[in-house]
Amino acid sequence: MLGRQGAGKGTQCIRLSRHFVVPHISTGDMLRAAVREGTELGKMAKAVIDSGSLVGDDIMVGIITERLDQDDARVRGYILDGFPRTVAQAVSLDAVAAKRPIDMVIDLDVPRDLVLSRLSARRMCRDCAANYQATGNESQPWTCENCGGDVVQRDDDTPEAINRRLDLYESQTQPLIDFYGSTGRLVTVDGVGAPDEVFERLTRAVEQRR
Ligand code: AMP
Repeated sequence: MLGRQGAGKGTQCIRLSRHFVVPHISTGDMLRAAVREGTELGKMAKAVIDSGSLVGDDIMVGIITERLDQDDARVRGYILDGFPRTVAQAVSLDAVAAKRPIDMVIDLDVPRDLVLSRLSARRMCRDCAANYQATGNESQPWTCENCGGDVVQRDDDTPEAINRRLDLYESQTQPLIDFYGSTGRLVTVDGVGAPDEVFERLTRAVEQRR
């Protein structure tokens, strides 16, 4: 699924993966796990993520190749969240997934100004990555209603990093809309509205394609 960060993409991908019983594969979650575990990848990725930049294509393609080779990704398909983010990644993905080609790409469409206001209120569970919107009335410490983990603001949700990510989305990721559109794989779904309404649009879009 494509979409600006803050479009509600992560939450909707998790819901879709539960609904269609397929793995949710989020490269952002994988990188954050590597940062938490202090692996070499995590040490390298931390500064890049915090500044709102993109991790190199070769590294990302390596991570996704390994992940798609795991058993759970070979059964009924999967939902990719946050990958690909560049045309080079998309070209590599088609090669990696050649045996079970990527058949549908959703562009979750939310205008930049709306995303900006959602991102500044975004909070995330450190353990299960559930997303929340802060209202200012939450009790502190804030615990996740799914898993009881700590709900915190992401280190990369500073105004500078948010703007950099949105600029990079326009220059690096938006060209994917033409890339997938020209091969008939793109479906644009309106991401403005209540989360349940958007989820309904998404499931309908997937059902129509199956
Ligand atoms: P996300 O959770 O999808 O918003 O990703 C958080 C951060 O991880 C991004 O801002 C990038 O720094 C990095 N990242 C995640 N996926 C990718 C990708 N496919 N290519 C490059 N960087 C990525």
